[in-house]
Amino acid sequence: MNKVVYMDYAATTYVKPEVLEEMMPYFTEKFGNPSSFYSISRDTKMAIDLGRDRVAKALGCESSEVYFTGGGSEADNWALKGIAFAHKKKGNHIITTKIEHHAVLHACEYLEKHGFEVTYLDVDSEGFINLEDLKNAITDKTILVSIMFANNEIGTIQPIKEIGQICKERKVLFHTDAVQAVGNVHINVKELNIDLLSLAGHKIYGPKGIGALYIRKGVRIDNLVHGGGQERARRAGTENVPAIVGLGKAIELATSSIDEHAERLEKLRDKLIDGLLKVPYSRLNGPRGKNRLAGNANIIFEFIEGESILLMLDFEGVCASSGSACTSGSLDPSHVLLAIGCKHEIAHGSLRLSLGDGTTEEDVDYVINAVPPIIQRLRDMSPLWEDHLKKGAK
Ligand SMILES: *Cc1c(COP(=O)(O)O)cnc(C)c1O
Repeated sequence: MNKVVYMDYAATTYVKPEVLEEMMPYFTEKFGNPSSFYSISRDTKMAIDLGRDRVAKALGCESSEVYFTGGGSEADNWALKGIAFAHKKKGNHIITTKIEHHAVLHACEYLEKHGFEVTYLDVDSEGFINLEDLKNAITDKTILVSIMFANNEIGTIQPIKEIGQICKERKVLFHTDAVQAVGNVHINVKELNIDLLSLAGHKIYGPKGIGALYIRKGVRIDNLVHGGGQERARRAGTENVPAIVGLGKAIELATSSIDEHAERLEKLRDKLIDGLLKVPYSRLNGPRGKNRLAGNANIIFEFIEGESILLMLDFEGVCASSGSACTSGSLDPSHVLLAIGCKHEIAHGSLRLSLGDGTTEEDVDYVINAVPPIIQRLRDMSPLWEDHLKKGAK
């Protein structure tokens, strides 16, 4: 088999063997409906309780504040729409940023069609919001601030504690999409003044199609799915027991080794970034250092058109991305790169490589060697590069 180097952990991860092992019995012998009365159902009910306890421990909240969802997008949608409709008598104003995941941005667009007003905060050239901008944007009509913990494309980690503090002082609810942050950053929702937080299983070596929304006790929110009494009647439907078990195990593993995990990945990440920046006319997107996700590298190579770089990397066995998985296939440049000030034509030549537990130093070396000749070949075919050379020759 040809070599495959997977560098797209921000898109999804494999399921860890320990996680799968805990899940397996819940597909077969432990199949009872958790809402039923007999003893095989008690097993599944207890498994759900354990999963919830593990998520709560990872976030520093009560188990009763954790609600399982069908993934990160669902948790984001619930937070935005559930808060908006439950608080519309108080106000119709929501604040978010220009660099959120589409699960947040498109939910906001939907709310705009239903009478809500949304402020999309700008970010600076490294992707950070400005706290003064946030303070100035809050009005007496503001009901919710939704700002992501860490960005999935450029790795920027926002000053979440300060944002939470501002929201608390101004008595506005604060939601954060922490799908990328969990397992990479220490999170305690109480210390950080977070009212709602979204997470997903498949970004932390758990299964796909499962996530959770933390909802602080006392926060009023509309129910998401009407039906039975599951998830305290807020999200009805028979629970996805194997996935809940998997999420619980995955988050326990991910949060028990954050420092070692981050330290190892930061070294690999910085080696990768430094290696790729040796290519002429290349540039790093997002910040350096501790305020960048440990496994994220995002580089722009100027004078390259389209997503051809991904195709050629695929040919070399490297799985990478140009931004978020959701935008690939469309020709629009990433909204995140545009928000940090990249020009349209340049934003196309971006490459996101995200590292994870399976990444080795050998993988990093392989990519550092594979990329420069690809860039050279693409530039040789590019009219933008030709123009540039002509200008230089003048
Ligand atoms: C992956 C991701 C999501 C979506 O999660 P799903 O489980 O795929 O629905 C939301 N926000 C961020 C920041 C993500 O990286």
